[in-house]
Amino acid sequence: MQIPATREECEALDRADPLRDRRDQFALPDGVIYLDGHSLGPPTIKTLERVRDASMKEWAQGLIRSWNDAGWIDLPLTVGAKLARLIGAKPEEVVVTDNVSVNLFKLASAAAKLGEIGLIITEENEFPSDQYIAQGIGNWARVRAGEGPQAAAETRGVLIKSIVNYRTAQTVDVAEHERTVQRGGGVIVWDLCHSIGVLDHDLAAAGAKIAVGCTYKFLNGGPGAPAFVYVRNDVAAKVQSPISGWFGHAAPFSFEADYQPRANAARFASGTPGILSLSALAGALEVFEGVDLAELSKKAQALGDLCLSRAHQLGLTSISPSRAEERGGHISLIHSEGYAIVQALIARGVIADFRAPDAMRFGFSPLYVRHVDVWDAMDQLGDILTTEAWDQPEFHRRAAVT
Ligand SMILES: *Cc1c(COP(=O)(O)O)cnc(C)c1O
Repeated sequence: MQIPATREECEALDRADPLRDRRDQFALPDGVIYLDGHSLGPPTIKTLERVRDASMKEWAQGLIRSWNDAGWIDLPLTVGAKLARLIGAKPEEVVVTDNVSVNLFKLASAAAKLGEIGLIITEENEFPSDQYIAQGIGNWARVRAGEGPQAAAETRGVLIKSIVNYRTAQTVDVAEHERTVQRGGGVIVWDLCHSIGVLDHDLAAAGAKIAVGCTYKFLNGGPGAPAFVYVRNDVAAKVQSPISGWFGHAAPFSFEADYQPRANAARFASGTPGILSLSALAGALEVFEGVDLAELSKKAQALGDLCLSRAHQLGLTSISPSRAEERGGHISLIHSEGYAIVQALIARGVIADFRAPDAMRFGFSPLYVRHVDVWDAMDQLGDILTTEAWDQPEFHRRAAVT
């Protein structure tokens, strides 16, 4: 597709955008261009209503009766079933539970029993928490860092692997990785944190067996929204969760002394779920209803192309793939003063983020970011660079969260 060369061309593309009506469903503040949906998605109006109902009606009025009457007890699975469409899974293959880090621990440990040797493998550019979890498991199992699919194939190991890299946005060919690793009897635990809600996933077609993912990034589930676990039905029967709590038990309210796992992915639930967060996520997923996932990823690619072309005009380099098909939903631009530049952008209402040591990340959530937003953000970035507006003491001060 042609990359727009003027703001007017951006406006024309936005008018013709099949997803344009979705933006109105978000509760975005005025005067802000939000390019940080890869870190924390904004709420929709429905999400805020669900949080209010869940607290004011279901909790305050319904009290404990809401576990049954409001369907709280089933939420991890009903929300999981909604999510399943976004990744090409069957409804019962997804459960919403815990956070990504805990789920990686559960799944990598469980998968180690599928490959007989039980070695856990991480690549060197993998998201830090994924590497830390592997290092933790390394206290009682064998772990190898800095290796990839080949090692998993040769050792019948468990590879933890992101579909979209958090720094570069580089995607991987899931089907090809599965073929390589499965040929040797290894297993991949896929991490969909930076790809769900922006890529058109078909895990079943790609032969993926196990995955985790985040719901507070492109799915807009809210700060600390619970993560999800995908386990293919035939695989679930062969694995057990090392955190075998009562919510993963076949009959939690029978209060039996012995653990009996539930069927399917639900066995990876652990303890009592956070109902307010789950309710927010249930509301957040409504904006995805009826969305053609191919349109979603196509628009993210187009916005990324626009960002890259304008960044090149500004003389900036990128570590993100220039070929849109090889990218997730964000672009990382490199500058040694990236932190201060991002702070200067935020002060002007353009919210992006920074990943040490030098990557400025711009996320293009296709449901609410428009072409004109990217255009205007790049105008601001250009102005900040030429005027050196970033070189102010307040923009150099590092906050705890970048
Ligand atoms: C955001 C992210 C996580 C987050 O893990 P939490 O335990 O939910 O905080 C993990 N892995 C990747 C690749 C991520 O992008």
